[in-house]
Amino acid sequence: MRFLPVFLDLQSGVVVLVGAGDLARAKLRLLAAAGARVRWYATDGHHDLTALDLPAPGADEAARIELANDDPLTADLTGVIAILCAGAGAIGPAMSARAKAVGLPVNVMDDLQHSTFIFPAIVDRGDVVVAVGTGGASPVVARRVRELIEAMLPARIGDLAGFIGRWRKTIHGLIPEFALRRRFWERVVDGPIGALVLAGRTDEAEAALKGIADPSAFAGSLPSGRPEGKVTLVGAGPGDPDLLTVKALRALQDADVVFYDELVSPEILDRARRDAARIPVGRRVGKPGIGQDAVNNLLVEAAKSGRRAVRLKGGDSFVFGRGGEEIEALRQAGIAYSVVPGITAGLGAAAQFEVPLTFRHEALRITFLTAHKAKDAEAVGWSTLTDEKMTIVVYMGMTAAPSVRAGLLAAGRSPQTPVGVFARVTRPDAQAVVGTLDGLPGLVEKIDGGPAILIIGDVVAHSAPWRQSNLAQLVSYFQVAAE
Ligand code: SAH
Repeated sequence: MRFLPVFLDLQSGVVVLVGAGDLARAKLRLLAAAGARVRWYATDGHHDLTALDLPAPGADEAARIELANDDPLTADLTGVIAILCAGAGAIGPAMSARAKAVGLPVNVMDDLQHSTFIFPAIVDRGDVVVAVGTGGASPVVARRVRELIEAMLPARIGDLAGFIGRWRKTIHGLIPEFALRRRFWERVVDGPIGALVLAGRTDEAEAALKGIADPSAFAGSLPSGRPEGKVTLVGAGPGDPDLLTVKALRALQDADVVFYDELVSPEILDRARRDAARIPVGRRVGKPGIGQDAVNNLLVEAAKSGRRAVRLKGGDSFVFGRGGEEIEALRQAGIAYSVVPGITAGLGAAAQFEVPLTFRHEALRITFLTAHKAKDAEAVGWSTLTDEKMTIVVYMGMTAAPSVRAGLLAAGRSPQTPVGVFARVTRPDAQAVVGTLDGLPGLVEKIDGGPAILIIGDVVAHSAPWRQSNLAQLVSYFQVAAE
């Protein structure tokens, strides 16, 4: 990040605008709408305000725009808080040098080299303002992001911020304790009072808040003493942060502490609240983790100390994730908990590489299997996997690949059954190798590192890598034939 978004107080001084033409006028319009005091040096000598189409072209706006006729390169800069050059031609770089010399922030339009700040794309909802930047790389991308945010934000979100702003002091006096106060505001924002404001019924919201802000009524409206903690088991999905559910994101944003596994990617951890504690509790290859009992204890302790904990796991917590044991421990300790599902690695692999796990007439059943104990034939029960119309999705199957092959062949599955090995799925370095059951151990050797999922069954022949490999053969066949 080269440019840090900060918000400039337009009440604190004058903004100097140097330039002419449509570019300068566009900036004037923006500044006037934001309520800035502007000193405009029109480099072509035409101070034409009539074409500006100001939001309310009254005396007020006109008074805030001061038309200057002297030379901006030598003019007095007392009281100036920022300098913009738009359509200023050669004066831009010279003005930039002057601004830098006196330590004023300067923007020369479309000229990163001479700018010390840049303009973001803006979502403006009154008190709620969102700034979107791309470090000057692509205003078009910034605008797309702005459109997405525009679509997502409730229209009256600014009213809600203003409403809370008016009550902040009062509530601060009533609830001095920070964590409790934050929770109070969360209830207001997420509850019926927030809904009233967003529906435009601010008067009713005021009355409702007044009711609970009355000290005598207030005592009963909050749980006494320490806030209650809770634990949310969150499935992080196979790696791509865009595959988090909206609920998962919300839980991450809400958490005071995040206990995460080795499978959780750093990009996903980054979605947690910035000041949340992040504690790794997973195993590493060859190194044991802290053990399930210790993890259970950490979760219980975190909740008992009043914190909101997220237990973040790769894929889904209930698919080879030991989530069941964790909620059992939480139940026994009387801790409040909830579970947010995630996209399990097998489904991530299927989607990314286009393996339809079921297919009319061809695949009617799916088995999710761990090969953790593949050498122990009884533990796996290979004989239950003989059905040709069953797709088998194998977790932890890399090192056990020879046992998986032997077990399935012994159970009578054809050596020609299509198989795929899908590694690091949904991550930038995802990899797929396809072939047949007979050659499975060799396929696994072609993988440049786990984690990897095996999918075994006729449906793998529909997958993208399989189609591509056959296509490649076909193309080379025709090329040879043509020669
Ligand atoms: N709870 C997880 C599974 C944990 S078991 C889930 O629902 O996905 C660990 C196994 O998951 C790994 O050995 C591997 O088989 C699989 N796995 C996890 N993430 C993966 C990924 N990004 N790509 C391929 N396989 C993955």
